[in-house]
Amino acid sequence: MQPFTPLAELARGLRDREFSSRELTRSFLDRIRDHSATLNCFITVDEDRALAQADAADQRLAEGSATALTGIPIAHKDVFCTAGQRTTCGSRMLANFQAPYDATAVARLDAAGAVTLGKTNMDEFAMGSSNENSHFGPVANPWDPARVPGGSSGGSAAAVAAGLTPLATGTDTGGSIRQPAAFCGVTGIKPTYGRVSRYGMVAFASSLDQGGVFAASAAEAAVALAVMSGFDPLDSTSADQVDPWLNGLGDSHLAAPAEAPVIGLPRQYFEGLQDGGAALEDARRTLEEAGCRFVDVDLPHTDAAIPAYYIIAGAEASTNLSRYDGVRFGHRCENPRSLEDLYRRSRTEGFGAEVKRRILTGTYALSVGYFDAYYLKAQKLRRLIQNDFLAAFGSVDLILAPTTPGTAFPQGDLTDDPVAMYQQDIFTTPASLAGLPAMSVPCGFADGLPLGLQLIGPHFGERAVLETAALYQQHTDWHTRHPEAYA
Ligand code: GLN
Repeated sequence: MQPFTPLAELARGLRDREFSSRELTRSFLDRIRDHSATLNCFITVDEDRALAQADAADQRLAEGSATALTGIPIAHKDVFCTAGQRTTCGSRMLANFQAPYDATAVARLDAAGAVTLGKTNMDEFAMGSSNENSHFGPVANPWDPARVPGGSSGGSAAAVAAGLTPLATGTDTGGSIRQPAAFCGVTGIKPTYGRVSRYGMVAFASSLDQGGVFAASAAEAAVALAVMSGFDPLDSTSADQVDPWLNGLGDSHLAAPAEAPVIGLPRQYFEGLQDGGAALEDARRTLEEAGCRFVDVDLPHTDAAIPAYYIIAGAEASTNLSRYDGVRFGHRCENPRSLEDLYRRSRTEGFGAEVKRRILTGTYALSVGYFDAYYLKAQKLRRLIQNDFLAAFGSVDLILAPTTPGTAFPQGDLTDDPVAMYQQDIFTTPASLAGLPAMSVPCGFADGLPLGLQLIGPHFGERAVLETAALYQQHTDWHTRHPEAYA
């Protein structure tokens, strides 16, 4: 079985009984095993469980009640709860946590017949841009194992890039799908806030967290997103909005946009770009030849995104993570001498350094006397950033920008400099703060390392984002390149 076979061909092969889901699943499980020592993409792989799901899928295929995803292997970021299988969130705190229920996104993919290969490695509680904050060790970038895969969904991105799974879920709070997609040379989409249910996704910053997916192309990502998305009464911020186009995707192929879009180029995103200027220029030309029109747009508050994001995300994290008290969830210290000692030592032992930094700064930003100066101000900046986008979308259908300032950096390079690490998110945090759909697609290489271009759409504008990405991928083959060691 070829590891990088397109999803549509896998689905056809399954339907035509050229191979079974069990055989397909087995081949991916073998690849995962072969590469686990070098890549460390997975925290948990449960072969028996995966093969049992594959057998059920084969049954369904035989009965003729299959969907586009029945029998197709998928991996889940270990932030998604999976009943009967541990969900660690990359933390010692949850190293032995078994959720009693499935996340809605997982349940929907399960119901469609997808086969869960395992749970992927990630930065602890999704806090990070390099996957170096995982309790389970760093993940290597398949293009160069000395470099980071990006974060926080680094395991999912690396697994898709190395052909260990055709699909993988991720979450994006400030860039955690788009940045690792760019660093690993795969396609990743973060939908509109509210599109994919947060139920069963371990919370980091609830006003920003959004589930999404990694795949080899926009067309393949769309198939999975169609299944994952939709209103969920179990998530109070789930969008009660039906998208017949998205929900109807199923088997049908993603078409190019009926009318070529007008695309805005935000000046602020091209200043301070380290790598990729030429690749983005080429991408623009390609899309222009395909009929798209480009205009310059201004997003004047872009430089406020990092400070606003890190105040808001930290503040929300500090409250969300207060539930890990050694009593109700997760790690509990040995022989506590008092309640205070139980809280203190359980949290001291259970959380890593970056998570502690966020809790401390987040609590500070929310505390009496500092609330107005930090949290409130960050919320005002958030609104200004959102207004910039809304103004831009008055005259353009989409925005095209770099996903990251540069290519994947060497492991260890930024670990001693949290602010430099945070600045990696300069081009991804604005769309998160505004709640907009955004995706990263491969657009070339610099020094042998993949580059990503980002497409940002208006709220619930996934169709324009995905179809334009598909248009680009019809005219380019960057998304079909694979790292030599895994080809
Ligand atoms: N890198 C950002 C952070 O550390 C974004 C993480 C994410 O999107 N989960 O917060």
